Amino acid sequence: MGKSKEVIQKTEKYGAHNYKPKEVVFDAAANVNVTNPEGEKFYDMLSAYSALNFGHNHPELIQAAKDQLDKLTLSSRAFYNSVLGDWMEKLCELTGKEMVLPMNTGAEAVETALKTARKWGNFVKGVEDGKQEIIVCSENFHGRTITIVSMSTDEEARKGYGPFTPGFKVIEYGNVEQLKEAINENTVAFIAEPIQGEAGVIIPPAGFFKKAYEVCKENNVLFIADEVQTGFARTGNMFACEYEGVVPDIYVLGKALGGGIIAVSAIAANEDILGVFKPGTHGSTFGGNPLGAAVSIKAMEILVRDNYPKMAKDKGDYFMSKIREIKNDDIVDIRGRGLLVGVEFKMDAAPYVKKLMANGVLAKETHERTIRFAPPITIAYEEMDDAIERIKKALTK
Ligand SMILES: *Cc1c(COP(=O)(O)O)cnc(C)c1O
Repeated sequence: MGKSKEVIQKTEKYGAHNYKPKEVVFDAAANVNVTNPEGEKFYDMLSAYSALNFGHNHPELIQAAKDQLDKLTLSSRAFYNSVLGDWMEKLCELTGKEMVLPMNTGAEAVETALKTARKWGNFVKGVEDGKQEIIVCSENFHGRTITIVSMSTDEEARKGYGPFTPGFKVIEYGNVEQLKEAINENTVAFIAEPIQGEAGVIIPPAGFFKKAYEVCKENNVLFIADEVQTGFARTGNMFACEYEGVVPDIYVLGKALGGGIIAVSAIAANEDILGVFKPGTHGSTFGGNPLGAAVSIKAMEILVRDNYPKMAKDKGDYFMSKIREIKNDDIVDIRGRGLLVGVEFKMDAAPYVKKLMANGVLAKETHERTIRFAPPITIAYEEMDDAIERIKKALTK
């Protein structure tokens, strides 16, 4: 039995079946190139949902991790560690915010943003505790905790998990009028993704974020941008909110923040908001750990130094122009920003994903009908050309 087959069988036997992975086993990787145990090569055009913006095993990030591994890996927040202050300063610089709060996963950062908003609503806005309301968008994806699936409209993500956390109102993504109607004196925040990645790379109508932000300001409601997937250059700007000229009150960040090596997430906001936390009111054992901080500092340094936003924009424009040449009347739309590109089919796209794999290209359908292409921003043009040829071969009818 081949090694890949063995790995798949073992994973399916001992692991809960909360995922149905495509049948490719990652064994080693460098930048956009992945090899399976049999030595077959693939292009990784998903990048772990944008966590691998820097590609697999970026040499400088690996070095930063190794250096820190030899020195100090964990302090807990019971004590200070010599890396965390520098990390906080750097993330504040990058976001233009005064303070940050570190966690590990994206879901934890979202939870932190929700807690912040509720506490701010109670302490600052004066909403009675227990009455706080947060407005969310249809088809959102913010993670997998009970509270986060409580604000999801995806039945599959919710079924069997009740009772749900109350205090959420859903509006249609992109509909400012509904946002206005949903706001009342108990509304503390509005949370949305600038582009809905999981929903199928859905870009809201132009001006939605800008108008929504203004509505929030008029009503003393916090505007929270979940940039876990879109942040850190993926869409051709450092943050996707920049497309609308919006600076959210709270950034929710994760995925690429850890350089694709270790889970690092955070929220960033000004002191009038993050100042609501006092010792003992929130925390995480691994949040702010020196290993994550060291890798993340290097990741942020590289993002700015190598101008990743421009790289993603130029490569994304090139990629999209080539993909648009594909002739297949099963394709109903091709859309995206930077290197976050969705190819929507009129039917289930899984058979096309299989064809892509057979041609050495790894991508995955989301919400059945849309294939998301989001290669590492570090992909070389020659690699992109080769990948594009393979994609054309697989997707042409
Ligand atoms: C992936 C993602 C999350 C959740 O991050 P995890 O690290 O998987 O918990 C939250 N929001 C968005 C927009 C995401 O893409």
